[in-house]
Amino acid sequence: MSTVKLPPKGRKPEFFQAELVKVPDIMAHVYPLSPSTTLAERMGSEDARCPDCDDNRWWLLPRAGAAVREGGKAYCECLNCGYTTHL
Ligand SMILES: [Zn+2]
Repeated sequence: MSTVKLPPKGRKPEFFQAELVKVPDIMAHVYPLSPSTTLAERMGSEDARCPDCDDNRWWLLPRAGAAVREGGKAYCECLNCGYTTHL
């Protein structure tokens, strides 16, 4: 995962938002260099169901955010209940 440059911190508070943009092929997006990695390997099954609420819609956390920046992984959050995991 490449590093992200944050804008310099100023005196005034600044707020940013990430928008939902559908990722057509999540594994190619997250693992462009190892195309054999499967969703089943990373999330237990190809259905990628949330273990808490059974939803299958996920929000990939922005790369500029602390979880991804510091954890170095493709964190994602269940859009329905907020359960967080990583790919
Ligand atoms: Zn959930």
